[in-house]
Amino acid sequence: MSSEFALIDRYFRRPTKRTVLGVGDDGAIVRPTAGYELVISTDMLVAGTHFLPDTDPENLGWKTLAVNVSDMAAMGAQPRWALLAVALPTATESWISRFATGFFACAEQFDIDVIGGDTTRGPLNFCVTICGEVPLGQSLLRSGARRGDEIWVSGTPGRAALGLAHLQERIVLDEPALSDCLTALHHPQPRVALGLALQGIATAAIDVSDGLLADLGHILEASGVAATLKLAVPPAPTLARECYLAGGDDYELVFTTPAIRHAEVEALAKTLALPLTCLGSIQAGTPGQLTVLDSAGQPLEITRRGYDHFG
Ligand code: ADP
Ligand code: MG
Repeated sequence: MSSEFALIDRYFRRPTKRTVLGVGDDGAIVRPTAGYELVISTDMLVAGTHFLPDTDPENLGWKTLAVNVSDMAAMGAQPRWALLAVALPTATESWISRFATGFFACAEQFDIDVIGGDTTRGPLNFCVTICGEVPLGQSLLRSGARRGDEIWVSGTPGRAALGLAHLQERIVLDEPALSDCLTALHHPQPRVALGLALQGIATAAIDVSDGLLADLGHILEASGVAATLKLAVPPAPTLARECYLAGGDDYELVFTTPAIRHAEVEALAKTLALPLTCLGSIQAGTPGQLTVLDSAGQPLEITRRGYDHFG
């Protein structure tokens, strides 16, 4: 069995590209780009709460970083630096090695330097702190949505929740939907390119981690506005509809843009080869109020907007 320091050296210390001082000292040193500000966020993944304890370690490594990268995307930031704090019940090297492979695959794909962390014994959990850069004042906040803005979502929300429902035997998915939904669950693609492209276009943005309606609700509350959505969902409740409306873990972006920019957003979807769907619009009204119309134009009774750890 290796010491804590040997583990760090072997699995978590990799060359960096744009860091003054990385892993190995009491602190890391980074030099932000002139004219940019730093966006900082942290997210924890706990066994049993955020992932099943028998999850493939490589997928888990990817997802641990990807969910944090997604927060940078939602701010319109370019992710740059990350720190990884891990608690492990035992130091099983084959497991740690595979976790690190997935984690650094994500770091590489998004050009992120891993500059430090902490390694300790304890119940399995992972906490990443991530830092990104945005030109001064250009971050996408939750609070900027205005009356008349259009509401958009990237990709196809609900896939991760459907994948989870399959694993929990609440539904049986057939191929190719099964592989698609399991990929969404285990190997989410944070929408960094979209977030960056939305600088100067979007008035507000958030990533869908808890559920489409729940996360849109956060924009509405922070912006002090209401919204009406017209969705291509059936009038009758189905698990697929529930996953679309309230399933978490997709890491798609929900954002608002002035209606005048509709064509620009459509063009962006083509450039990025990423579906962007207009869901409805922002209205004046009770902050947070959300009216959802189904494909027949009838209002849906919403019982659950998404996942809440203490709800
Ligand atoms: P300290 O005792 O000063 O907290 P540590 O022994 O915890 O230092 O860490 C030594 C170095 O290794 C530090 O630079 C720390 O940031 C880094 N480090 C520790 N664990 C990890 C990890 N899991 N991933 C990346 N870097 C790590
Ligand atoms: Mg430490």
